[in-house]
Amino acid sequence: MLFIVLMVSGPFIKIDGEPILMMNIVERRFIIFGQIFWPQDFHIFLLIMIAGVVFIGLFTMVYGRVFCGWVCPQTIFMESVFRKIEYWIEGDWKDRKALDRAPLTASKFIKKTVKHVVFFLLSGLISCVLLSYIIGVHKVVLLVTDHPLNHLGTTISLLVFTFAFYWVYAKFREQICTTICPYGRLQGVLLDKNSLVVAYDYVRGENRGLLKAHEVRADVGKGDCIDCNQCVNVCPMGIDIRNGTQLECTNCTVCIDACDYMMEHVGLPKGLIRLDSEAGISENKPFRFTWRVIGYTGVLGVLLAFITMLLVMRTDVETSVLRTPGITYQLLPDNKVSNLYNIKLINKTNKKIQVHLKIESGPGELKLIGKELIIPAEGTAQTSAFIIMDQTDIKKAKTKMNIGVYADGEELESVSTSFIAPLN
Ligand code: SF4
Ligand code: SF4
Repeated sequence: MLFIVLMVSGPFIKIDGEPILMMNIVERRFIIFGQIFWPQDFHIFLLIMIAGVVFIGLFTMVYGRVFCGWVCPQTIFMESVFRKIEYWIEGDWKDRKALDRAPLTASKFIKKTVKHVVFFLLSGLISCVLLSYIIGVHKVVLLVTDHPLNHLGTTISLLVFTFAFYWVYAKFREQICTTICPYGRLQGVLLDKNSLVVAYDYVRGENRGLLKAHEVRADVGKGDCIDCNQCVNVCPMGIDIRNGTQLECTNCTVCIDACDYMMEHVGLPKGLIRLDSEAGISENKPFRFTWRVIGYTGVLGVLLAFITMLLVMRTDVETSVLRTPGITYQLLPDNKVSNLYNIKLINKTNKKIQVHLKIESGPGELKLIGKELIIPAEGTAQTSAFIIMDQTDIKKAKTKMNIGVYADGEELESVSTSFIAPLN
């Protein structure tokens, strides 16, 4: 439930006036934790994505499919919202099966209609949340409050998402995990016998057999599984976890609760189905970190360190100072030489910034063509400038220079360029 609250409130949470997360693919505008990422920052963005994939891989190796059961929005909305509503309207799995088989009566018609209307409305709400992460919450609010035809593109997107979610939650359901989700298909590669999974303790449970009054199960060769089938009945994927870890299992742990309930009911210890590794059950070994996990952790650590370094070095303004193509140096009176430059600046913040430029690497004077250099919020600015040097200060035909970019007396970044001049 906490995850749903976080997901729904995410678009409303702002850092420095920017959303906590926005992935506007159409306008190529990406915001993570209030930081605007431009196409120029794509390498950082890509590294964050790679680190995310490594993290999920590592997490899966150690903790199995915990991500599927507890973080994946599809499972969370399905199990915590849609299935609960279905339960309230149509009853438990037995009632639902009976209702599906029953002839169409007024009661069945009302139940089915109410369920599908609620599912469709909720799908619309989820689509609004998803769209808020793409185009921003203010545009979604505008779409909902304004005439839909004034925002035709967004309205069509909203309807497409709504119908897609409705179809997934009402019909397709967990099949998405086994047929469409690429992560689900990776499980066979990522899991090993040390990964934590929802597992049936076959050492303790077998031979399974129905509970009989006054019978000492151990004496008749029976294990603790009373073959009540509750774990199978409650499983949303319709699998029998007693047959071993299966691709379809999303680690939702519903079967654990069902089995614990039965164990408690018949006075046997809980945990016949539990979170454990194959090694933990077959060899009674405690959980341990494998070399594979340590290796992945190292890769993840390096990636995170590299991303942190790039983020720390990332500047609010990105500047390029390049000599104007096709123009060489100009000789000026008083033994001076000038070069003409094209200057481009990108403002990655949501506030306009007035900058001034200064030569930092030695003598010389930088003269802007024009007065002030103001970069609009989340915008770009372009100007030209002359750098003028005294011939007596020039030691090489091509001199490397550093130009400091300042705002409010604070240096935002330093860029390098070159200055050409004739050697006397
Ligand atoms: S086997 Fe258990 S954990 Fe896996 S999907 Fe079914 S109920 Fe959920
Ligand atoms: S719920 Fe537990 S006891 Fe019942 S069949 Fe499943 S594993 Fe056996």
